[in-house]
Amino acid sequence: MRASRHWDERRVMSMTEVEHRFGESVKPCPFCNCPVAGLWVGPSPHMTCADCGADGPTFEGSRELLEFRQHKAVKAWNGSMPRQPVFKPGVI
Ligand SMILES: [Zn+2]
Repeated sequence: MRASRHWDERRVMSMTEVEHRFGESVKPCPFCNCPVAGLWVGPSPHMTCADCGADGPTFEGSRELLEFRQHKAVKAWNGSMPRQPVFKPGVI
């Protein structure tokens, strides 16, 4: 699937890079099921969907290292992020 949004590569870390750095494979978007999501590389790390633009929880704060907070953002996207029911007309 091709992502419909175009990221600024300097701002969003690709899934490949996320896997390489954190050893986590990125799960599909819980909202639109798009398999492509990236990690926002900024002061408030969070995952962002390439298709619908959904964002995972952000992890702010300066007490923890940025890299540690980035890792938590990836984990949140992969597991503990609340999943809302999605209406799929094709399923019914
Ligand atoms: Zn999405």
